[in-house]
Amino acid sequence: MDIVSRYWSAVVHSLNPYVPGEQPKLDKLVKLNTNENPYGPSPKVLDALRAEIGDTLRLYPDPASDCLREAIATVHGVKPDQVFVGNGSDEVLAHAFLALLKHDKPILFPDITYSFYPVYSKLYDVAYREVPLTESFEIRMDDYFTENGGIIFPNPNAPTARLLALFEIERLLKANTDSVVIIDEAYIDFGGESAVGLVDRYPQLLVVHTLSKSYSLAGLRVGYAIGQRELIEGLVRVKDSFNSYPLDRFAQAGAVAAMQDRDYFSQTRKRVIETRTNLTRELEALGFDVLPSAANFVFARHPEHDGAELTSKLRERSIVVRHFKRPQRIAQFLRITVGTDSQCAALINALKEILA
Ligand code: PMP
Repeated sequence: MDIVSRYWSAVVHSLNPYVPGEQPKLDKLVKLNTNENPYGPSPKVLDALRAEIGDTLRLYPDPASDCLREAIATVHGVKPDQVFVGNGSDEVLAHAFLALLKHDKPILFPDITYSFYPVYSKLYDVAYREVPLTESFEIRMDDYFTENGGIIFPNPNAPTARLLALFEIERLLKANTDSVVIIDEAYIDFGGESAVGLVDRYPQLLVVHTLSKSYSLAGLRVGYAIGQRELIEGLVRVKDSFNSYPLDRFAQAGAVAAMQDRDYFSQTRKRVIETRTNLTRELEALGFDVLPSAANFVFARHPEHDGAELTSKLRERSIVVRHFKRPQRIAQFLRITVGTDSQCAALINALKEILA
C-alpha cells in the first residue's frame, strides 16, 4: 500500500497500522490462523439474536450495556460498576491506552507480544519500552520492577501461548503501585488462573477479557474490562467522548446469553483443551518444538524446516496458519489455532507430507 495524501493529518502519516490475520474469502479452507473457536456459539446465543430482530432496532441500544455488565459481573463475582464493555477487547484496550496508560514515563510491554500494543501507543502518542522475553520466550516478572508509566501484557502471552503464574502477577502488583497494570486475558479460559480475583485488593489492576475466543463470538465483537470503579470510570469517560453506543442490540443480547450459558462454555473449552493436548503430542512426534500452551493455539517450530516455507506449503494444501516474519526471534515459528479434531488431523497429515 503506497497511497499517501497531502490531506492526511500528521498523525495519520505517522501511523503503522495493525495487520489482522487473513480472513480468506475461499470456502473449504482449514482456517487455523486467527485463534477463533472451531465450535459455533451456544444455541442460546442464536436464540437471543433471533429474538432481537424486530421493530426495536429503530431505537438506540442501551449506551451503558447494563444487562450485559450485570451478566459479566455475576460470572466473575464483582459489581456491575466494576465492568466496562466495548466493541471487542481491542476497543477496550484502545480506550485503556488513552485513559490509563498515557503518562510521561514510558509504559512497558514484552518485545514479543500482541502487536496491537505498539500500534495503540503510536496512535495515542504513548511512550513505550519493549522488555525482552527470556531465551525460552517467558516473561520474567523482575524485568518489570522498574519505573514506568504503566505495564501491559497478555496472560497467556500471544503469540507464544506461555502462561505466567498468578503469584507472579501479584508479586508485580505489590511492587508496582504507582501505575496501572493491565493483564490482557484474551486466552485465559484455556488454561490459566484469572487475575480478576485480585481486583478488589489492587486499585491499579485492570483485567481485560474477550468473548471472541472462549465464547465463540469473534463475529459479534464484545470484550470487557474488570477493575475498581475509578479505573472503569476513566474508561467510560473516553468511551463517551468517542462512541456512546459501541455495542449494538445484537451484541448486547448475544453476549448476555453467552455469559449465562455456563454449561456450553465449559464443554467447548474442555474440547479445545483436549484437542490441544493431542495436537501438541502429534506435532512433537513430527519433530516440532512446541512451547507449552495455555491458550487455544500453539506456537511451534521445526528445527529443520523454515517457518515461512512451511506456512506456504500448508497454504497450497488449503490449510492456513499464522506466521510472523518479525521479530527475527520468532520467524521460524508457526502459530496454529487449535481447531476441531478433524481440522487438526488434516494439519498433521499435510505436515507429514511436507516433511517427507
Ligand atoms: N488481546 C490479544 C492478546 C489478542 O490476541 C486479541 C485477538 N487478536 C485481542 C486482544 C483482541 O480480541 P477481540 O478484539 O476480538 O476481543
